[in-house]
Amino acid sequence: ATPAATMVGTTIGAGNGVLFKGGDILERAKDVDTVVFDKTGTLTEGEMELTDVVVFDGDGQAVTDGGDTAADGGELTARDRLSEDDVLRLAAAAESGSEHPLARAIVEGAEERGIDVTDPEEFENVPGHGVRATVGEGEVLAGNRKLLRDNGIDPSPAEETMERLEGEGKTAMLIAYEGELVGVVADADTVKESAGEAVSALKKRGVDVMMITGDNERTARAVAEEVGIDTGNVRAEVLPDDKSDAVEEIQDGGRKAMMVGDGVNDAPALAVAYVGTAIGSGTDVAIEAADVTLMRDDPLDVVKAIRISDATLQKIK
Ligand code: ADP
Ligand code: MG
Repeated sequence: ATPAATMVGTTIGAGNGVLFKGGDILERAKDVDTVVFDKTGTLTEGEMELTDVVVFDGDGQAVTDGGDTAADGGELTARDRLSEDDVLRLAAAAESGSEHPLARAIVEGAEERGIDVTDPEEFENVPGHGVRATVGEGEVLAGNRKLLRDNGIDPSPAEETMERLEGEGKTAMLIAYEGELVGVVADADTVKESAGEAVSALKKRGVDVMMITGDNERTARAVAEEVGIDTGNVRAEVLPDDKSDAVEEIQDGGRKAMMVGDGVNDAPALAVAYVGTAIGSGTDVAIEAADVTLMRDDPLDVVKAIRISDATLQKIK
């Protein structure tokens, strides 16, 4: 493109909240043949809410099904160990040391139920897996199946409950206390209003749409289905440090991928992508690593970025 065309495209972009980091990026965007969306905070609002608390007794049986905790206010039934509120109290205390959206939702959900959330005596973040904390005298683990397994606790008694919640698109987390599985809590996120429209517009253009997430396979697939991404195009359970490898792998066959993400986790993946795109409310680290910044929080602006690139280069040639 001529410097004049680049200038026009950049200006049109800026007027639409689409910031290109340079003329070469503006030229590249039109050639993108694959768009890889991060799930949390990119396709979804990233505002988790606590939805379920399920208690397991000493024999690993679910003794109550919390259902929608916001709705039922936590009705308690007889059980031989902890109550729903006990499980939530332990989980929230452990998670109060974490900044993760999943953790914040648990703490807020507990506070909304009138639970006094205490600080843990000790706290350790286990990236991509959960947290480990000492609450009072006991060790609390809150996280995924691998976190429990790595600590010698069998998560399988909760499998049925986990699968049911994950099938609803929720992120279910196992809670262990003093070496025993005591409960499951779940957080839910809502899909952004325009996510489905963005995916179908990209597909119509012939762009392959993929999703990458640290979240588990079942939750990821439920969200993918909701927005119209083929379940075969979902890369789930990708650890934070492995996201960029996953993007490189996608590009290995010669694909030109645009990675769209919002988080600190996403910065390396944005950097290796043919075009790295940070979405509005994203972290500074993501914006720094990106080639394109979408000022608004709207996935449709991904389509807009590609179209502006198209228009700029078609007009003047
Ligand atoms: P994402 O890519 O969705 O941000 P992460 O890589 O941060 O996901 O985490 C992957 C998985 O690890 C989560 O889906 C969750 O099961 C578990 N996990 C991560 N952080 C926490 C936490 N603070 N508490 C409980 N579970 C967590
Ligand atoms: Mg994210």
